Amino acid sequence: MHELVIVEGILDAVIPEVKKYDVEKILSIRLKIGELSGVVPSCIEEYFGVAARGTIAEGAKIIIEKTPIEIECRDCGFKGRITKGTYRCPKCQSAGFRIVSGKEYYVDSVEAE
Ligand SMILES: [Zn+2]
Repeated sequence: MHELVIVEGILDAVIPEVKKYDVEKILSIRLKIGELSGVVPSCIEEYFGVAARGTIAEGAKIIIEKTPIEIECRDCGFKGRITKGTYRCPKCQSAGFRIVSGKEYYVDSVEAE
């Protein structure tokens, strides 16, 4: 049910924001979901249909873009993407890195009319 909470949070953030612009209907919501966020895109789509019912977002399309995992290595200074499952710096093989991107999820853009 984690995803339902996320979807409700997204709608709570998006709906008041777009209402400021005198829109009648949200057409689509583009989300960026980090590969390490633990958010399951198919669950988001499923819960969205439920959570958006009766709101101006009802029937809106959910577009999900996955964002890659990016790290910053403390040992060699490497900055860039790594593949999920390989938790080593691709340059020096160190495990001493910081994840700079990939854990978060957010609304990238909203299309409304
Ligand atoms: Zn490194």
